[in-house]
Amino acid sequence: MAAPSIDPEPPHKLFDTILTLDFGSQYTHLITRRLRELNVYSEMLPCTQKLADLDWKPAGIILSGGPYSVYEEGAPHADPAYFELGVPILGICYGLQEIAYRAHSENVIAGTAREYGHADLKAKRVDGHVDRLFKGLEDEMKVWMSHGDKLAKLPEGFHVIATTQNSEYAGIAHKTKPIYGIQLHPEVTHTPDGTKILENFAVGICGAKQNWTMAKFVDQEIARIRKLVGEKGQVLGAVSGGVDSTVAAKLMHEAIGDRFHAVLVDNGVMRLNECEQVKQTLSDHLGINLIVAHAGQQFLDGLKGIQDPEQKRKFIGGKFIDVFEEEAKKIEEAAAHSEKAGKIEWFLQGTLYPDVIESISFKGPSATIKTHHNVGGLPKRMTEGQGLKLIEPLRELFKDEVRELGRQLGIAHDLVMRHPFPGPGIAIRVLGEVTPERVEMARKADHIFISMIREAGLYDKIGQAFAALDPSRAVGVMGDKRVYENIVLLRAVETTDFMTANPYPFENSFLTKVATRIINEVHGVCRVAYDYTSKPPGTIELE
Ligand code: GLN
Repeated sequence: MAAPSIDPEPPHKLFDTILTLDFGSQYTHLITRRLRELNVYSEMLPCTQKLADLDWKPAGIILSGGPYSVYEEGAPHADPAYFELGVPILGICYGLQEIAYRAHSENVIAGTAREYGHADLKAKRVDGHVDRLFKGLEDEMKVWMSHGDKLAKLPEGFHVIATTQNSEYAGIAHKTKPIYGIQLHPEVTHTPDGTKILENFAVGICGAKQNWTMAKFVDQEIARIRKLVGEKGQVLGAVSGGVDSTVAAKLMHEAIGDRFHAVLVDNGVMRLNECEQVKQTLSDHLGINLIVAHAGQQFLDGLKGIQDPEQKRKFIGGKFIDVFEEEAKKIEEAAAHSEKAGKIEWFLQGTLYPDVIESISFKGPSATIKTHHNVGGLPKRMTEGQGLKLIEPLRELFKDEVRELGRQLGIAHDLVMRHPFPGPGIAIRVLGEVTPERVEMARKADHIFISMIREAGLYDKIGQAFAALDPSRAVGVMGDKRVYENIVLLRAVETTDFMTANPYPFENSFLTKVATRIINEVHGVCRVAYDYTSKPPGTIELE
């Protein structure tokens, strides 16, 4: 790829950006998502963010919903400076109430009728026209509401642009300034025209360009990495064969070639043929400089006798770091003697935007904003102890954007669409004690289940699917003989964001066929069960 001649700046300096200030609503991140789906770049920051501390200028500002009441003591309020900036502002729910409250503290009160769920919104016509926030929409639309407080009065200088039966002030706009407030939540899918409302705001009112595409991002990110790392700098990173680490690795390779070193740790609890496949894909197809550390035996030996899921995860996490560190040392020694490259100074981490959001979102009136936690198994003692700096090229991206980026980089569809696989691998899918025999059973059953899902054309419809091995055994009769053998649990969920999930509704006949094949082909298994638990209360993995 030719060196892009673009200024290597973060996306909020390169794209018209809508800033979403988070007041703690569980839907705030969806505002950012919807805007990005419209190809408008958006970032979320906590509502405590001061304008003076922002080193870029947003094209528009959205104030999100939130669990507080604006008139409560300790309720969060936006920095007044945003209202002097002159860029358009849209308040959503709490955001609307915040706009009204700052005009006068008596403008917002606890309502007598709370509104949760569907409402019919009526856009108000003035001189025959609806407000530009509702441009192109029917005058009446179904919307979704979730509030207990309401506007008691119209703030001075504003007029009403929409009503519902319960809310006289369901939508308001300033008469001369581009300041808007809506009681409804346009970001949730229960408001079918919500995306259009956000588009009207971002594109129509803020004038933001719809140019946020992965094709553009690739060139800019490569330029940014090159500038960060410099002419000689070297980068180290762990890969797992999952989408995020593969995309991050490929991006690094495009940017700095063999000065990026990827390490794959074979922990003995990977899926069937996985290690070989990852090696083939990363090294042979994508040309990434890959080292495989075969440490399966060390992991399996250490797992002996451990029953507790947390202990398993801890052991695997710790061991992973040990093995990785050893490889890193070897690479560093080799790098020290290399003439064309410098020291290893950077550590690649596949942090995604949801992790960033989680660590900065505004969660309580006491504003305990968590510092950025470790994601993706970062060996802290390596970065801190050895002074490695972090490089996180995916930290602005949502999962589906990472997949799109992968496609742009020429990574095969199957890999890009791959279901997530946990770091501790099959070890947490063999419930209870992990032994090589039990790993083998889970691995074979999983392979059959996933192959059959693929053959049935269902793989891309399912968010995550796998087979696990129950710790108990059951009686069966096979070939007229009594057996007392293992139970395989199948799990498959539909989900968009992995925060909530539903069991995938397979046809009975499909599950029957899977069960038959597993029992016939996996020795030691005499029963197969399908897990019907949603998340919550269940988690996607079983341990
Ligand atoms: N807590 C406020 C209310 O109940 C705002 C709710 C919200 O933003 N969803 O009205």
